[in-house]
Amino acid sequence: MSRTRVPAVLARIVRTALLPGACLACGTASVASLCPGCLGAFGADPRRVELAGLSGWAGWDDTGVLRRTVAAVKDDARTVLLPLLRVHGHRLLRLARRGVGDATPVAVPSAPGARRRRGLSVAAEAFGPGVQERALWRVRAVADQRGLGRGARARNLVDGLAASPGVAGRRILVVDDVATTGASLAAAVAALRRAGGRPVGVVVLAAVPRER
Ligand SMILES: [Zn+2]
Repeated sequence: MSRTRVPAVLARIVRTALLPGACLACGTASVASLCPGCLGAFGADPRRVELAGLSGWAGWDDTGVLRRTVAAVKDDARTVLLPLLRVHGHRLLRLARRGVGDATPVAVPSAPGARRRRGLSVAAEAFGPGVQERALWRVRAVADQRGLGRGARARNLVDGLAASPGVAGRRILVVDDVATTGASLAAAVAALRRAGGRPVGVVVLAAVPRER
């Protein structure tokens, strides 16, 4: 290293120490990608959920940290957070497997706009290489679900998905990244059944508790 570069490197180290980056989930100053508070949300026990008429497991997202982490990967390509989502996903999948055994995991496809932005399926990345990403697909353009109310979401998804004939007769574990109303999961379950598949459970990285 040349003498002139040493001060530059030292300056960068000092700057990094004095002005740490921001937590990708909450934005507060943090040296790590997630601050200790947000990281703690991933340590909470997953919960049993009932979604789209099926039982399953979900990260319980009462703080919003889980879905903000998913969004950071999805929308801003913060792939540094993927290993954390994978640990979270594998934990959920292990719990689900106790109930549904070796059912085939099938990912719910994202809205086309969202998928173009990030170029990867967060659910497929988080739940691992065994997840089928192409067993379900959208049969027409569906607007990004965010920003739509519950009624609009359900209408937007009626008949919005089709499933591969390859699912016929198979037991399927439906996996998704975030479940707010369960409308996406319900559309996926309906499409899989139309194709002769047998959805037996659901797993989501983050389930948003219903407002009372
Ligand atoms: Zn944070």
